[in-house]
Amino acid sequence: MIAIAIHGGAGALPRRKMTPAASARYKAGLARALGAGYEVLKAGGKSLDAVCAAVVALEDSPLFNAGRGACYNSDEKHELDASVMDGATLRAGAVAAVSRIRNPVLAARAVMEKSRHVLLVGRGAERFARQQGLALVDESYFHTRSRLTALRKRIEGHHGTVGAVALDANGNLAAATSTGGYTGKLPGRVGDSPIIGAGNYADDACAVSGTGIGEAFIRGVLAYDVAARMHYRGESLPAAARAAMKKLAGLKADGGLIAVDRRGNIAMPFISEGMYRAAIDPRGRRTIAIY
Ligand code: ASP
Repeated sequence: MIAIAIHGGAGALPRRKMTPAASARYKAGLARALGAGYEVLKAGGKSLDAVCAAVVALEDSPLFNAGRGACYNSDEKHELDASVMDGATLRAGAVAAVSRIRNPVLAARAVMEKSRHVLLVGRGAERFARQQGLALVDESYFHTRSRLTALRKRIEGHHGTVGAVALDANGNLAAATSTGGYTGKLPGRVGDSPIIGAGNYADDACAVSGTGIGEAFIRGVLAYDVAARMHYRGESLPAAARAAMKKLAGLKADGGLIAVDRRGNIAMPFISEGMYRAAIDPRGRRTIAIY
């Protein structure tokens, strides 16, 4: 049984500003990433490889706030965060506040597999990524006019994240999350996406990737909260995911999450106006949606 869900962030354009052409572009970007992850699972590959393939595709797209399309901080610079977690072994890796790694999710995976650490930040993370043979890019690679305009005009709603969760044919779960954070954040600010248990988590019950106001995800330990509710209270995945959204609302923040459990159940709740999301369930049924 295989299943995958991905998101392109809860900071979707407000519905009144979404043109049919833009909606089609976002959905095509989601479909590409979904396909990249699903191909891995269909071929009998690992959930960890599937979530990384999907997130790399999202990072490479200028449409989503991660990798290439990351938003600007208040210094008009980019600082990216990402993490991965392997549910079967509870191994995890993350990078934070990196400015030169083309695919932060791959650096997160390298931290998990090739170092004794879980989280590397800034320059040290970049040096490590280079030593691991990962692509470093000039900071100009992350330039996008729309994100710069968003910063200069203080346009709200310019946040977002990308993520993927998957169940593979061996019954193993994995999660990956990557983000530029949000427009105008302070230099040095780290969000929830590279914090294991906050914006990203996987174990043998479920895999979770969050998006939304990262400070609230950290304070509410929301990704782990979904897993904990399943373990300690025996809640179903949808019930646990709904409860996490209630907690998020209680923290006066918005956002959403995607999650999959070991039976292939998928939940994609959000309390923001929209969330770019897509999934393929164990029966092969495909969803691609924004609002
Ligand atoms: N969670 C991300 C962060 O705070 C932003 C988002 O998902 O919208 O870094």
